Amino acid sequence: MSVTANSVWNNCLAFIKDNIQPQAFKTWFEPIKPVKLSDNALSIQVPSKFFYEWLEEHYVKLLKVALTKELGETAKLVYIIRMENTYGNREPFTEKIPSSNRGNMGPQEMDVPIKSKNPELRNPFVIPGIRNIKIESQLNPNYNFDNFLEGDSNRLARSAGMAVANKPGGTSFNPLLVFGGVGLGKTHLAHAIGVEIKDKYPDRTVLYISAEKFTQQYIESVKKNTRNDFIHFYQLIDVLIIDDVQFLSGKSGTQDVFFHIFNHLHQNGKQVILTSDKAPVDMQDIEQRLLSRFKWGLSAELQNPDYETRISILKNKLYRDGVEMPEDIIDYVAKHIKTNIRELEGAIISLIAQSSFNKKEVTLELAQQVVEKFVKNTKREVSIDYIQKVVSDYFEMDVATLQSKTRKRHIVQARQLAMFFAKKFTKASLASIGSQIGKRDHATVLHACKTVDNLAETDKQFRKYIEDLTKKLS
Ligand code: ADP
Ligand code: MG
Repeated sequence: MSVTANSVWNNCLAFIKDNIQPQAFKTWFEPIKPVKLSDNALSIQVPSKFFYEWLEEHYVKLLKVALTKELGETAKLVYIIRMENTYGNREPFTEKIPSSNRGNMGPQEMDVPIKSKNPELRNPFVIPGIRNIKIESQLNPNYNFDNFLEGDSNRLARSAGMAVANKPGGTSFNPLLVFGGVGLGKTHLAHAIGVEIKDKYPDRTVLYISAEKFTQQYIESVKKNTRNDFIHFYQLIDVLIIDDVQFLSGKSGTQDVFFHIFNHLHQNGKQVILTSDKAPVDMQDIEQRLLSRFKWGLSAELQNPDYETRISILKNKLYRDGVEMPEDIIDYVAKHIKTNIRELEGAIISLIAQSSFNKKEVTLELAQQVVEKFVKNTKREVSIDYIQKVVSDYFEMDVATLQSKTRKRHIVQARQLAMFFAKKFTKASLASIGSQIGKRDHATVLHACKTVDNLAETDKQFRKYIEDLTKKLS
């Protein structure tokens, strides 16, 4: 009995069916057609790129087990994406996976001076005990310049990023600080710069890390008494990319250690790239000396994308996924989602999904539903400034009064409510809330939150305040 693509796939299906929910099986595996078996590679045809990505994300392990059972350890899986071209009268077309043409980033070896005082220099990314210093760049090759579309809103930041990538450490953009609101492409651009540098200068050691992870590593190093190793490790990097530095706010220990690392790198002509959700002038609870360092180089803002850029981002996404969509739908999405590229992409992905699974045509009505859901579901985090404004307006006072030192009861209550809502609706620390609401300390904020809780239980009028304000803020 000869082994064919069909027979192999049918056996795989039998195994898969036993291992997942019937509905999932129906949605994700029934539409697949086996196409070809050659050497040890089975080619399967899937209806869209989205489908392929979903399988890769959710079922890759299962597929591998099934296939290995059939074809042995060397088994390979190849996806063929066949798009039904519902718009225009073209024939359906097929496409090999436009898998990102970049391979994964290999680890970077680093020369540690032989006479290093500390031969067991620890790399915070690996389990202690490994001597060889290999540094994974932590870069995501899918975030590159090719797919970071240019528009008025990002031109400055993008070209500064390019300039830095061409000459890391050799421009006056050091550090390069990219700032802007949520979902506007900071992380994407930060990776793109790193990826480009690795392309141009494979020997440079590039490291991408979120400020949050950096903080965790630092705390860990303090616990384990390896703070010096931590600093030393980071001082060996050629291009250091730290994402979301606003996370360092209020964390003075981490700021201090970063200050030393920064100075060392800067003095040695190494490149530092930072991102933040705010401009340096608006950063709260970051030490002055660090803020002034941030301003040494260039701060470039990513602004809300204009209409043309939103359209081209949407079209590019559709193009990469091999999907066509009527102009009026694209236009509708671009007109209604304005301030967040992640949401823009999310809405279009959702539309692609709906059309390819339910075989539903994408109508304007469907687009309206999807967009509405998106805009509603992604709750924006309110800022502490906004909370103070809403609370002051509600009690008909200005923000300066709310923040003032006065002990007049109604003002104290307003201030306590602002603190209470800041705790409830933001991720800011008590210390940070306190310093933003009239420069109080964390104990004051804690006390305010307790007072509000107590009053909410005992005072009807006060409960009404909380209800009203909650409505206004959410
Ligand atoms: P941030 O870090 O600012 O919150 P991200 O970098 O995570 O934003 O971007 C959100 C999404 O928008 C990502 O999927 C990213 O690829 C996409 N994106 C942002 N800017 C662009 C752009 N100029 N061109 C193409 N895609 C973009
Ligand atoms: Mg980000």
